[in-house]
Amino acid sequence: MPTYSVAIVGAGPAGYFAAQALQNLENEDLKFQIDMIERLPTPWGLVRSGVAPDHPKIKSVSKVFEKIATSEGFQLFCNVELGKDLTVKELKESYDAIIIATGSSIGRKLGIPGEDLIGSISASEFVPWYNGHPDFANLDITLESKEAVVIGAGNVAMDVARILALEPSELEPTDTALHAIENLYRSNIRTVHIFGRRGPEHAAFTSPELRELPKLEHTNVTITESDILQAQERLQSKEEVEKEIKSNLDAMLAISQAEKKNHQRELNFHFLATPLEIRGNTRVEEIIFRKNIVVNGDVLPTDETFTIKTGLVISAIGYQSEPLAEIPYENGRVLNKNGLVEENVFVVGWAKRGPSGVIGTNKSDAAEVVKLLVSSLKSPKDLINLESLLKKRSVKIVNQGFWQTINASEIAAGEEKGKPRIKFVNRDEMLSLQ
Ligand code: NAP
Repeated sequence: MPTYSVAIVGAGPAGYFAAQALQNLENEDLKFQIDMIERLPTPWGLVRSGVAPDHPKIKSVSKVFEKIATSEGFQLFCNVELGKDLTVKELKESYDAIIIATGSSIGRKLGIPGEDLIGSISASEFVPWYNGHPDFANLDITLESKEAVVIGAGNVAMDVARILALEPSELEPTDTALHAIENLYRSNIRTVHIFGRRGPEHAAFTSPELRELPKLEHTNVTITESDILQAQERLQSKEEVEKEIKSNLDAMLAISQAEKKNHQRELNFHFLATPLEIRGNTRVEEIIFRKNIVVNGDVLPTDETFTIKTGLVISAIGYQSEPLAEIPYENGRVLNKNGLVEENVFVVGWAKRGPSGVIGTNKSDAAEVVKLLVSSLKSPKDLINLESLLKKRSVKIVNQGFWQTINASEIAAGEEKGKPRIKFVNRDEMLSLQ
């Protein structure tokens, strides 16, 4: 029975769903040895370091990942860095196929003056910071001003704005990094502004996330009712309006009409405002916006500008991939033709299609690519023993068993405090568990 070896680079949702798609195609005549390689000592990618901690249900997909990982023929190699411990060339030579599933971890830049001032950061830093990603745990986040500004009208911007605007005690029963909770308790921020450059009808938020906002226990969420009514009016002349847009506008209208409580905290949505410049001496002191209007469906600039005084600007305007040596990148993603990069090299997930879709989108995406992979298989190569190769190079591998020890230890630490887990944020601490 032929067994083909496949290396998957990246242990996030796209990588696991690619492994699952391979496992689903196995039969008596086709088997796979799947080696999943991950730079961090922990797997699960964005499910661990991206998904908002107050959205625990979304994280339950990790149970699926663990089932995939404990199936026959699957091996996990965390704490292994491609380019340092192993090269892409070695993988290409040793495996029948390699699948790049390294996601998009770099935040897109606004490209405006003042973006590099202290206090101007990207969601690609802030999100992993509150989620306990070891590379971001020591970030110096300034939460001193009364107002904070979040740029972008997508779900990441909404996550970021919500985490800043809620009362930190609401994060106690979650797996938010302890350093982040402590910092948020000290935060002076009471008003968080979230800005979209286009109209409410163009926002990339999704309605389930919008509908959750009124459940915040200590924060008034405000949207100007006329902004939504005008957006609905603009759409009236259109023959067909997408269901998602209608549903978004309904959710936003409900927020705009909800009775406001006597809360000290506010989360305010603004539309049709493009950031022009962030100003300050060494730190962010204010941000200037230009107002836009919608004319016949087009978003056009006006001459009107306005300023918000703030010490914190977080841009959440999308991501791009971090290049991997020997793999062709263009415009922040791997150059590929529907998942094929070059002979025996494939790409899935955000590295392939850009940062779009929800976690489940990766399932169908990976299944398509894996079909292509299987159709291109020739006679199998001799199976590689990656473990012994890495051990010779003195790499401390976190395999599935080691990861399960780390996982169990985090869960046990959380149990004492009524949390799902307390994450290790220090690599050495994690690695010392074995
Ligand atoms: P996104 O959905 O693509 O939203 C990016 C936002 O940034 C858009 O509103 C975009 O506006 C805006 N933007 C881009 N360039 C800008 C600029 N130069 N100035 C001002 N605004 C700018 O990206 P995302 O929020 O990073 O989310 C990535 C993916 O993850 C999405 O598919 C999202 O749904 C998903 N996600 C899901 C959840 C969840 O299900 N709970 C949570 C987080 C993320 P324009 O439209 O005008 O370009």
